[in-house]
Amino acid sequence: MHYEGNIIRPPSEANSILLQVTVGCSRNKCTFCGTYTGERFRIKPDAVILEDIAFAAKYCQRQRRVFLCDGDALIIPQKRLLKILQAIENQLPWVTRVGVYANAKSLKMKTPEELRDLKAHGLGIAYMGLETGDDVTLKKINKGATSQDMIEMGKKAREAGIKLSITVLLGIAGRERSRIHAEETGRVLSAIDPDYVGALSLMLIPGTPLFDDYRSGQFALIEPGEMLAELRTMIAHTNLSKGLFHANHASNYLPIKARLPKDKEATLNLIDMALAGEIALKPEYMRAL
Ligand code: SF4
Repeated sequence: MHYEGNIIRPPSEANSILLQVTVGCSRNKCTFCGTYTGERFRIKPDAVILEDIAFAAKYCQRQRRVFLCDGDALIIPQKRLLKILQAIENQLPWVTRVGVYANAKSLKMKTPEELRDLKAHGLGIAYMGLETGDDVTLKKINKGATSQDMIEMGKKAREAGIKLSITVLLGIAGRERSRIHAEETGRVLSAIDPDYVGALSLMLIPGTPLFDDYRSGQFALIEPGEMLAELRTMIAHTNLSKGLFHANHASNYLPIKARLPKDKEATLNLIDMALAGEIALKPEYMRAL
């Protein structure tokens, strides 16, 4: 496989064939993100992608899923993306689902018909970084989309039949807006009603604008207990029809896996117990990205 630079994928795609179709992220401006710093975004040549699919056809026959790396492969023009999906369909017929990172911009660029076409050719899940539903914070972190954009684009993916997994970031609003961030994120998640929500705890990355703000005292990194309180408020304000709310990423202090609305009360009680010191939180040295 022709991999270049940092290859990232959602935790749930750990066993997938990682097919790198773009290098970097077309936005690359979010203030907390250092994943592709200094990397110029580009779509890889079709010949290289097709060679990697041929390689997977030979050596990846046990893997049932494909994840298209990097940052937001959905930005690839429709014709080229369809060609990639068709090559996967033809050469990896055992693959049951293709996943991709998406953002509001790349979803906006596709028509509902185009999304349905992608779905018909195997695109089964899109992972979208919401981070927060608070418009003030979205602007501060330079996400390039409002909460309304996020709601409309998230719904658009769902209406095309593509499963939607949304990531939110505990701590991203700092101390002052922590509560508003949690409530507003719950509001946006409820409006989108995704299949999955993954709550990660913010870890500051040296070299990013947010890290500089932290060093200069302009951004306050909240404590583990405050992140947990934020998570509690977020879950309390999130109403999903049948979505799975995870907070079990390695960067989180208390692993949570809740089917909402069924597990809501039990989850809130568990968090209350942790906040009251009746359950131990993961120590700092065990956290990792
Ligand atoms: S958070 Fe996502 S959209 Fe923002 S720069 Fe990083 S990879 Fe790109």
